[in-house]
Amino acid sequence: MFETIIGLEVHVQLNTKTKLFCSCPTSFNHVQNTNTCPTCLALPGALPVLNKEVVHKSIMLGTALEATINKTSYFDRKSYFYPDSPSAYQITQLYTPIVEHGKLQIDFEDGTHKEIRVNRAHIEADAGKNIHDGDISKVDLNRAGTPLLEIVSEPDMRSAEEAILYLKKLHSIIRYLDIGDANMQEGSFRVDVNVSIRPKGDEKLYTRVEIKNINSFKFIQKAIELEVARQTEAWEDGIYDEEICQETRLFDQTKQETRSMRGKEEAADYRYFPEPDLLKTVVTDEMLEKYSKIPELPDAKRERFIKEYGMNKYNAVVITSAVEMAHFFETMMAEDGVTAKTATSLLTVELQGRLKGDMNITNSPVDAKKLGFLAKRIDDKTISGKAAKDVLDYLMENVDAEVDETIEKLGLKQVTDTGAIEAMCQEIIDANPEKVEQYKAGKDKLFGFFVGQVMKASKGSANPQAVNEVLKVKLS
Ligand code: ZN
Ligand code: MN
Repeated sequence: MFETIIGLEVHVQLNTKTKLFCSCPTSFNHVQNTNTCPTCLALPGALPVLNKEVVHKSIMLGTALEATINKTSYFDRKSYFYPDSPSAYQITQLYTPIVEHGKLQIDFEDGTHKEIRVNRAHIEADAGKNIHDGDISKVDLNRAGTPLLEIVSEPDMRSAEEAILYLKKLHSIIRYLDIGDANMQEGSFRVDVNVSIRPKGDEKLYTRVEIKNINSFKFIQKAIELEVARQTEAWEDGIYDEEICQETRLFDQTKQETRSMRGKEEAADYRYFPEPDLLKTVVTDEMLEKYSKIPELPDAKRERFIKEYGMNKYNAVVITSAVEMAHFFETMMAEDGVTAKTATSLLTVELQGRLKGDMNITNSPVDAKKLGFLAKRIDDKTISGKAAKDVLDYLMENVDAEVDETIEKLGLKQVTDTGAIEAMCQEIIDANPEKVEQYKAGKDKLFGFFVGQVMKASKGSANPQAVNEVLKVKLS
């Protein structure tokens, strides 16, 4: 029996306004090579100046990971040649990164948890982009010098499932902190996976293989499973030493395989040395004080929702795992008199069920304020939960419509006036003397029949709770 060992490196693009060492904008969807300057083009004589915002965001992440934030950290040069890096080196932090020794908790479905150690998070500059167009390759340096935080875990994960839980939690934290948009498709949350296997009970680590740049959770899961199968098979066939070497592999999603890209460089190949053009990075007490005040994170919010609102764990996880969803819910709850129960079902069942195609929680035709107001109208008994579904259908189609005007327009206002309900109940009782006899003789089930008749007579507008109460009195 084998055990899987996984370590993860994640490159998160920080959402700063300007690049890491110059004042060029970080938005690279512009005409190629326009967001550049002598510094990010690495022209001779141009000097880097560290962007403070990057340090602030690193402190926030370090705080979220309960890590050590080094008061002094340094930049180093990592030498390599690639056409998208005109300086032929990357400025990164090897020896003393800004963030070290953190941790991140992953939660299993059965309610148990596991702590994954985070070795470090270091600041580094992104490269540009090579664009391959038939026989011609072009270089776009708009992205060159964009700030990245590389977050490196310890090899603490033992399955693809654990790796995905870790990545989803980290992704969620980045979004909660709002330090990056963490869009996997667009490359602002890039994952490299280190995978090795060993016989269960063995203490030592065997050869690890790195799989680079996989852009969805689903593909990461698949890539790990394929790589573990490849290594296990090699071991069982007695060709592990020949087949498995320290290398970088690519995941091919069409062929469903990993394949060799290049031999993995050792640190020595990069000829790291301290970056001579930058001063040491100092985190002052004031900075630490200011940027360690981070917003409530997903785990804390989940536990608070369970405690404060009596929410079940399933709903609490659904609502808190993505920050947009959590904020949507909290905006709904800010409306006076809204109960968590009503808000939860309107959001997770009714609204989510109506978001089709490209629609999602952030571009929903019914925003959080409006849905919160609809929840209020259920909770103050203006309309029934059933009528609310019709109102929501209408609101989804008519973006400018308001809740109250729609209730009015569709004639869905609940009758709560006891006098009117009493009259309706009396009418039904008078029209069904035999059923009344049977009920009084002990046929309890008939109670539902009376409620149904009254609701029908009122065309669904009677408050069912009031109908129940009135009927109970009248039939007893
Ligand atoms: Zn620049
Ligand atoms: Mn890196």
